[in-house]
Amino acid sequence: MKPDIKELYRLHRLALDVRYVSTRGEGKKHSAAEVIKKGLADDGGLFVPERFFPLLTEDLLEELCGFDYADRAAFILSRFLPDYKFADLLDAARAAYSAEKFGGPAAPIARVGSDYLLELWHGPTSAFKDMALQIMPRLLSLALDITGECRDAYILVATSGDTGKAALEGYRDVPRVKIKVFYPVNGVSNIQKKQMSSQTGENVDVVAINGNFDDAQTGVKRIFSDENCRFELAQKGWFFSSANSINWGRLVPQIVYYISAYCDLLKEKQIKPGEKIDIVVPTGNFGNIFAAYAAKQMLLPVGRLVCASNRNDVLADFINTGVYDKRREFFTTVSPSMDILVSSNLERLLYWKFGAPAAAGFMKELAQNGFYKLNGDQLAAVQSDFSGFSCTEEETKAVIAATFKKYGYLCDTHTAVALGCAEKYRASAEYTGGKLLIASTASPYKFAPAVLSALGEPVPADDFAALDKLHEVTKVPVPGNLAGLKDAPVRFTETVGPADMQKTL
Ligand SMILES: *Cc1c(COP(=O)(O)O)cnc(C)c1O
Repeated sequence: MKPDIKELYRLHRLALDVRYVSTRGEGKKHSAAEVIKKGLADDGGLFVPERFFPLLTEDLLEELCGFDYADRAAFILSRFLPDYKFADLLDAARAAYSAEKFGGPAAPIARVGSDYLLELWHGPTSAFKDMALQIMPRLLSLALDITGECRDAYILVATSGDTGKAALEGYRDVPRVKIKVFYPVNGVSNIQKKQMSSQTGENVDVVAINGNFDDAQTGVKRIFSDENCRFELAQKGWFFSSANSINWGRLVPQIVYYISAYCDLLKEKQIKPGEKIDIVVPTGNFGNIFAAYAAKQMLLPVGRLVCASNRNDVLADFINTGVYDKRREFFTTVSPSMDILVSSNLERLLYWKFGAPAAAGFMKELAQNGFYKLNGDQLAAVQSDFSGFSCTEEETKAVIAATFKKYGYLCDTHTAVALGCAEKYRASAEYTGGKLLIASTASPYKFAPAVLSALGEPVPADDFAALDKLHEVTKVPVPGNLAGLKDAPVRFTETVGPADMQKTL
């Protein structure tokens, strides 16, 4: 008999419901629907489960192996969203992760040498952000119903490139929602820029910022915590919400693919039940790797979490020294989605490891002094789970060339940082000897000029010519959404300074 995911859900209902609190100790407890609606807590903190993560047993993992990605997703989401009806979660997951949208399985694994690459970029915008943003609008719509909300949602997004497009695509024409995306004008690739500026939909807007990603993100956070602004909006029948990975609704769907990948490896007999794997994640805002940490907290058999940084190596430094210091030069790299000096989701880890007073204290120090420092015990606690490595621009490009030459596998610049760091990790004293699951976060075609140059080819001045050239050289298929982009008409051209973001509302 075919196993039924609804039956599995009934058999494993949790006795205790997850409640959410702010990382900064605001004190109020919130339901999942409230948290997904609000995005950010009123005290500026991020929402986290109050005390525990729902646990996975070995038996449960083996049972989940019998289901496809969407059904696994619904089950795992239900552990975190107890106020949602399971049937609704199942409908949402099946619609979000359909073969039609992902061109096959949502998150396939590619074997490259002895490593497993978890390809998270088969969605409609060719970046891993789709994994969360295809389902999150549905979770928000359900949240409006569950909480009896009569206002509509105004989503503000700061993007380093990939989130913006994925959010626009996910929220486009969703009823009762309006979305505005801010991106750093010189901090995204031309292909990313075109993806956003040509976005269709009646409820979307896109604005370029004269600044870097941190300026955009700080601006959005400022608008969110501005009482007057919130009040004015409420009078017009709107409330602010976020689609950034500061929203818990982004994080939960990301936990799913680590668990699902483990099931796939089990099913394919690549690992034995209970065998620990290490997970390597190309990291920017710390959302993706925090999701892997959450999976570990749920007792998914995970050894070490390897944080892979590009030349903006503030996180790798933090993990190695215990000092988080944003007072450093900001570099624009070939992996722009990781060009970040203030990684928002790290606050969730600080809360989880050290509690709200400590997390709030560190965030205050960071805002006031530009840095904070863990004590020896705290550093040891971080290092018990995490290793940190970084790759230079040259190393990143060398990885792309070597991987293509040796395995015929073409990876993007972000994934290349992860592969390079995986190599460094494997050669280090921290290596557990476990198999490596490496998050592959974008299609190489999204960053065609850099990938082409890494392969030693001359790079045409036009990004779209570079895309065609990359296909000519490698014969790797171009994702459909990128193939048609060149001729899409531009709809959005506005550029403002960081101080004027609020005026565009
Ligand atoms: C967003 C992004 C990252 C970084 O993920 P975080 O969750 O912000 O750490 C890495 N690679 C790509 C391609 C991305 O779009």
